[in-house]
Amino acid sequence: MTARVASALTIAGSDSGGGAGIQADLKTFAAHRVHGLSALAALTAQHTRGVTAVHVPDTGFLRAQIDACFEDFDVRAVKLGMLANAEVIRAVADAIERYRPAHVVLDPVMVATSGAALLQADALDALRTYLLPLATVATPNLPEAELLLGARIDSREAMRAALEPLRALGPAAVLLKGGHLDDGNDVLDLLDDRGDVHPMSHARLDVSAHGTGCTLASAVAARLCRGSALLDSCRSAADYVHEALLAGYRPGLGDVIVLDHF
Ligand code: PLP
Repeated sequence: MTARVASALTIAGSDSGGGAGIQADLKTFAAHRVHGLSALAALTAQHTRGVTAVHVPDTGFLRAQIDACFEDFDVRAVKLGMLANAEVIRAVADAIERYRPAHVVLDPVMVATSGAALLQADALDALRTYLLPLATVATPNLPEAELLLGARIDSREAMRAALEPLRALGPAAVLLKGGHLDDGNDVLDLLDDRGDVHPMSHARLDVSAHGTGCTLASAVAARLCRGSALLDSCRSAADYVHEALLAGYRPGLGDVIVLDHF
């Protein structure tokens, strides 16, 4: 018998429009030549103009999906996305503690760019208490980091100052995404890996895009799954998102592009 190939698992929400969530994650895993597994924590009825309905399956069924993955596959990395509510967060945290995958990339998804709530407001505490301490790396954008810290982050200095308090919430590393800070021709992301800070910057693209956060986190998970170090994984994932945005296309009636997962 040959050895099993390494697999990456996404536990997240699905996007019927194919631009974000589980669909973006699996496309990203495939583009990185990684076998992709999925456990659906939530289902969204969604298109390029917004979310029209959300369904959250019961946590027993979510656990069954996660168990099925760990019982059979060599799961080296887990990517966590839309988890909808506190009960789902607890179920996922239990599973992570039980199976202890080598890498956990936590995208603390809260609100879609369209404005739709993807996490119940009262679930923020559960995210802080149960999930952040289990993350190898957390990948908040600025609005998410602001909600996690209860503080404004409105400059590059404030971004740097936010890194330590974010790491104090428990993740081993934080990749803070600066795309929402519209203060120049470039976008700055900061990786804080146990106190070592690594800036990454890319030219700002004048596009409204859907699914960038999901794609970034799953690209990091895919690289970790393939054995890359965290810094390399984050750098190449940010480059990948930039290229995928450059090649993005507009599949729906909304004025947003989705990424091309080459
Ligand atoms: N839908 C799902 C299922 C998601 O997980 C996310 C983001 O993580 C979104 C929609 C929102 O994507 P965006 O804010 O890029 O439009």
